[in-house]
Amino acid sequence: MASDKQPIYILPESTERTVGRDAQRNNILAAKLVGEAVKTTLGPKGMDKMLVDSLGEIIVTNDGVTILEEMEIEHPAAKMMVEIAKTQESEVGDGTTTAVMIAGRLLENAEKLLDKKIHPTVITKGYTMAAERIKLLLNQLSVDVTGRDDVLKFVAMTAMTGKGAESVKEKFSDIIVESVKQIEENDNVDINNIKIVKSKNNRIEDTELISGIVIDKERVAIDMPNKVEGARIALVSDALELKTPESEAKISVTSPEQLQNFVEREEHMLKQVVERIKNSGANVIFCQKGIDDVVQYYLSKNNIYACRRVAKSDMENLARATGAKIVSNLNELTKEQLGNSRSVEEVKQGDEGMTYVKGCINPKALTILIHGGSDHVMDEMERAIKDGLGDVASVIKTKRIVPGAGAIEIELSRRLKAYANSLSGREQLAVQEFANALEYIPSTLAENAGLDPIDVLTELKSRHDNQEQNAGINIFSNQVEDVLAEGIIEPAKIKTQAISSATEVAVMILRIDDVLASRSAKGRMPQMPGGMGMPPGMD
Ligand code: ADP
Ligand code: MG
Repeated sequence: MASDKQPIYILPESTERTVGRDAQRNNILAAKLVGEAVKTTLGPKGMDKMLVDSLGEIIVTNDGVTILEEMEIEHPAAKMMVEIAKTQESEVGDGTTTAVMIAGRLLENAEKLLDKKIHPTVITKGYTMAAERIKLLLNQLSVDVTGRDDVLKFVAMTAMTGKGAESVKEKFSDIIVESVKQIEENDNVDINNIKIVKSKNNRIEDTELISGIVIDKERVAIDMPNKVEGARIALVSDALELKTPESEAKISVTSPEQLQNFVEREEHMLKQVVERIKNSGANVIFCQKGIDDVVQYYLSKNNIYACRRVAKSDMENLARATGAKIVSNLNELTKEQLGNSRSVEEVKQGDEGMTYVKGCINPKALTILIHGGSDHVMDEMERAIKDGLGDVASVIKTKRIVPGAGAIEIELSRRLKAYANSLSGREQLAVQEFANALEYIPSTLAENAGLDPIDVLTELKSRHDNQEQNAGINIFSNQVEDVLAEGIIEPAKIKTQAISSATEVAVMILRIDDVLASRSAKGRMPQMPGGMGMPPGMD
């Protein structure tokens, strides 16, 4: 007969369990802290963060996703927050801070509702309804900019505002717009076609757009030509050296003639390597591995330009740009495998030389060459440029923009509140809280600029109540004004993506009421973002 006792499930001893409200509080707190960690970087007057990794490497940045990626975040709910930043980055390339802040605030506001004994499923339902409503509203409120190429520059400038690129914002915006326009095809833009290379010399102002590929390598020998016009380019992935035997090899040489013979044989084989290259008709060769000295010598004698140890990604870029095929075995190298460009040239940048491959047969191959005095500055410029590229590409693809500087958030919030009032169930409280969460963006923009967030919010709301849909807080003039007219504009996609992923993560976290963690995982849990430590009651 079967036992009538209740079965008892025993968790492995190494498992720690948090249930119900405790689990929820714990997760919400962790997620909220992630939102707060990036808050001070939001907007034009946002501060930078200095991140120091365990090896002492320093990054100075204002970029949400970079900060979150570099922080060693262990808490599972906090990690989910980092994921939204990554999704935002890959979907749009900008708006990461916004997405994470909204998610954090949605959870913080949910906590208030939980305290009022509103069930999590009611909250998640209300949040989902709000997000859907916002999607509709964004469709109505966003502006169609088909055929308005003039706005692209403003989109790029808005993206780069506050990224330390202030003095060069105009120039960078021109470069960004020009490059994206060059690679667009039927409203499709693959920004992977735009390579970003950094060169540590000159000033940031000297940053330039080069139509072609820039490889961070100089020619291997000084006797090679430093410029080749009408380049016929070979791409070889294998080393141009004699293969060294895998295991130790012994050669017994019994006479001087034999030794001489051996050396001559080797040289002959290396010479043949060059013969093969020459016979293919190539006058430029990029090799992914090393090039033997003897090969270098004969290449020079044949006026062939060569670079060695070229990165795999560069080899692929070169293949795409010049039409060359990467060969591993020189026996395969024929005229058909070669690529073409108008010129290949070594350009000295201070002490280092770089190789410019210009006038490629694929006109979509572009390089933005960032100049600057320090790696930290150039890295941050690269992030700013990438934000700009992502935003401009997004507008070209979707044709829809919204006013920035908090204007769209306030308008959405206002309309969402009206929608909440039309609802009868308790979900309306959640929709209301969603609307409140959106105000976090303009109030933080104001706060980070040293303005009084309450005053600014009050003014913004009253202006929007007076049908001034585009009233935002311009952080340069410190005025509430029509920011669309001022050119503070963002792709609508930033907002749709931020809202949908913030809602998704908030809903997911609110649904959790049971956390089972193995002890080893728990041991690492107290490492909260920014070294904030674990608040009481959270262990
Ligand atoms: P994110 O990672 O979310 O893109 P940013 O630090 O780039 O964060 O800040 C973006 C916010 O700054 C957006 O809300 C944008 O509208 C706002 N912004 C950009 N330029 C201005 C400006 N001149 N005045 C006020 N807000 C601005
Ligand atoms: Mg941004």
